[in-house]
Amino acid sequence: MNKHTFQNIPFIDVASQRARLGSAVDAAVKRVLDHSLFINGPEVAQLEERLAAYCGAKHVISCASGTDALLMVLLAKSVGPGDAVVCPSFTFCATGEVVALRGATPIFVDVDEETFNVDVVSLKKGIALARKLGLKPKAIIPVDLFGQPADHDAIGEVANAEGLFVLDDAAQSFGASYRGRKLGTFGLATATSFFPAKPLGCFGDGGAIFTNDAEFAGILRSIRVHGQGNDKYDNVRLGMTARLDTIQAAVLIEKLKIFDEEILARNAVANRYSESLRDIVGVPCTANENTSVWAQYTIRLPADVSRSAFATSLRSHGIPTMIYYPIPMHRQIAYSHHPVVGCGLPVSERLSTQVISLPMHAYLDERTQDLIIASVRSAVRD
Ligand SMILES: *Cc1c(COP(=O)(O)O)cnc(C)c1O
Repeated sequence: MNKHTFQNIPFIDVASQRARLGSAVDAAVKRVLDHSLFINGPEVAQLEERLAAYCGAKHVISCASGTDALLMVLLAKSVGPGDAVVCPSFTFCATGEVVALRGATPIFVDVDEETFNVDVVSLKKGIALARKLGLKPKAIIPVDLFGQPADHDAIGEVANAEGLFVLDDAAQSFGASYRGRKLGTFGLATATSFFPAKPLGCFGDGGAIFTNDAEFAGILRSIRVHGQGNDKYDNVRLGMTARLDTIQAAVLIEKLKIFDEEILARNAVANRYSESLRDIVGVPCTANENTSVWAQYTIRLPADVSRSAFATSLRSHGIPTMIYYPIPMHRQIAYSHHPVVGCGLPVSERLSTQVISLPMHAYLDERTQDLIIASVRSAVRD
């Protein structure tokens, strides 16, 4: 049986998309199998061109994952011991992990209560804290969380005033726009992820870096292949093995063709959820000039509603939920020794106890949406 039942509602439905794209993706993968250029095949450059055209960035460097994309930029900028990088605590761990992996110090700052994205006041405090600790603030990594752009104008102003570069973590939000401009062109570089559950996902791991700086793009291309110089056996810097497989590029070329339609479908689901739920739970707030690609549809439960009872109630109707994120980064064992501004990050801590995400994907039919909406309403009322 192909159609899911209400007892089996997927949180993110990669199978329906797979069914829709079926033969086109099969043919694209078969072309790669036939030419057998598994590394750096023609599809890789083709994908990079299409991604650049899609978001308006001048240069696109595809790579092996979103985490590698972030790490490569820090490596290219020689971020290391003694340097500080300011980032929000309410995010997926890779945002701060890459900073610590470089031996630099992540400084965790708070997020805005409405948008869940970095709070610019807290951001400024983070930069001041870095200096006070004798560290050299080098960069800001804003995160466009759950598919919605952060406040890039405000972040860019702070970065310029303080002499920092911006590395935008758009792992969840490729395709979204800020003030009419697609993500991929804010700051020095933007990183995204093609992990299967992201809005634009491949059939394995993958990622990309976007930049308008030609020289910087050249350095990133070198880092992607062990710091190569003029040829493969000329090594001019330290690098990584961070290429995107040709097969994944071929899959992504096909998926990009339906990406805009999928974004519209996700927005229709989000609008319907919000209209039907805003009177009883905190629904996501999209700042006026932003568009979101809805990587997650994350609600905030009233303080007197038990999140675990709510999840259990939905589960009893066959509806999966997820918690992004139950523990902010500054409270994680691997990161709790790094500095945070003020005494704790109250918004991140509050959100981590109250947020819960509902099923969200482009293939969620209205009947299923209605069941989810009714179940949320009854779980909150109980
Ligand atoms: C998924 C994600 C990443 C990492 O991407 P991978 O491709 O899984 O390495 C980084 N940052 C954020 C905010 C993410 O959601």
